[in-house]
Amino acid sequence: MLVRGTFVHTPQLKTLEVLHDHLLGVNSDGCIAYLAPANLPESKRLLDRNVGPPVIEVPIGSFIMPTFCDLHLHAPQFMYQGTGLDLPLMQWLDRYALKAESRMDEDGALARRVYTRLALRLKENGTGTVLLFGTIKEETNLILAECMHAAGIRAFVGKLSMDIDITSPGSLTKTYVEPSAAASLENARSFVKHCHGIVAHLPESQRIVEPVLTPRFVPTCTDELLTGLGDLSATLGVKVQSHLAEAKDQVEWVRALRGIEDIDVFDKNNLLTPRTVQAHCTFLGAPEFDRLIAKETSIAHCPLSNAYFSAKPFPLREALDQGVKVGLGTDVAGGYSLDIMNSMRQAVSTSRIREGQRQMDPDSSTSADCSIDWKEALFIATRGGSVALGLQGIFAVGAPFDAQEIRLYDPRTGEGAGPLDYFDLESDVSGSVGDQSAPISLEYIEKWWCIGDTRNRGAVWVQGNEIRKRV
Ligand SMILES: [Zn+2]
Repeated sequence: MLVRGTFVHTPQLKTLEVLHDHLLGVNSDGCIAYLAPANLPESKRLLDRNVGPPVIEVPIGSFIMPTFCDLHLHAPQFMYQGTGLDLPLMQWLDRYALKAESRMDEDGALARRVYTRLALRLKENGTGTVLLFGTIKEETNLILAECMHAAGIRAFVGKLSMDIDITSPGSLTKTYVEPSAAASLENARSFVKHCHGIVAHLPESQRIVEPVLTPRFVPTCTDELLTGLGDLSATLGVKVQSHLAEAKDQVEWVRALRGIEDIDVFDKNNLLTPRTVQAHCTFLGAPEFDRLIAKETSIAHCPLSNAYFSAKPFPLREALDQGVKVGLGTDVAGGYSLDIMNSMRQAVSTSRIREGQRQMDPDSSTSADCSIDWKEALFIATRGGSVALGLQGIFAVGAPFDAQEIRLYDPRTGEGAGPLDYFDLESDVSGSVGDQSAPISLEYIEKWWCIGDTRNRGAVWVQGNEIRKRV
């Protein structure tokens, strides 16, 4: 498959590249095999000799960029997206999260309906890769994996592991827990095996759904369970996800229960590894970031749910500058929006308020600006999250072709697409509207970043497969 047009990606935190009129070739494994300016002799040869499907021409006024990576999403809680967010975290968990999870586990048909719709919404929002929290029951998580696989989404599916009941005594939700550490470990092992089984018949490059070990968070897991999961991850090479230092009440709870911080609990159980993604980490600082860097563990930053549940913002600028691997998570349904574009905007807004506070604080110990800009947000939403999962999130030879088409304006009329209005198009570009040489400027992309929505999205590809058609 050959794609010709403008490509936009962020190879590094502070580098956004716009590759005008390039030719990109995708091989039968769905990986990028060629990328170069379309006017080079080699590109012309490829175009002339193309015997595959017709070349995909990206129109003037549109560009191709990597799909978004959502590094933290609770699939069952999608059912209660945008519900009850005025409650404190532990009450919200009890009232909505555990209820959603137990309902999915009781009713496979409901789970299939919710997860099918979730996959559709992810595609609409340009999310090609997602790291999911599921439920306790194996079968329900296999339904989740099947729904993502059927939709063509690259999905890392986590069966919850929890052997301590946190359902409050007066709760309307019935007890939601596994019977013992041994049973929980056996269930985790079984899920890993059967989740791999869903894609075992496919060529390796197309096995884009995989299991993830998922101790919910420290308060729901005994040390026996955590030690077992740490061993299992090391033995099988399976990824791990959990929540770390998320909220004030959760941090204090762990301290009271275990007498140490939750980062220490994960560390001593061998659960801080290069395969690990920890959500939130809002209460961590420089010394803990150093520990995560040493372990090559990544953070899923969830700025929207932090604003509701964490009591303080995550020090994103500091984490990035220190060198921690960070991606973005929507944290549905602690966060109400599935659209990573909203996570990017919230990440920038939060960082700017932190910067304002730093400037006004006479005791501030740092003179460094702690805001991030929209291009950096785009980096963590694509490449940052991908690197956390061992992927690339850029356009480079050898990388999987995971991409989305973004339309800024109609090349024939100069009308902005969807919510976008460009009044200076004709004076901005070097030629007339629709001229092949007319560049897509950073200002045009920035406007889309600020106010664009699903109406700007065309086709979406994952591993070379077109999972959402051009509309
Ligand atoms: Zn979460």
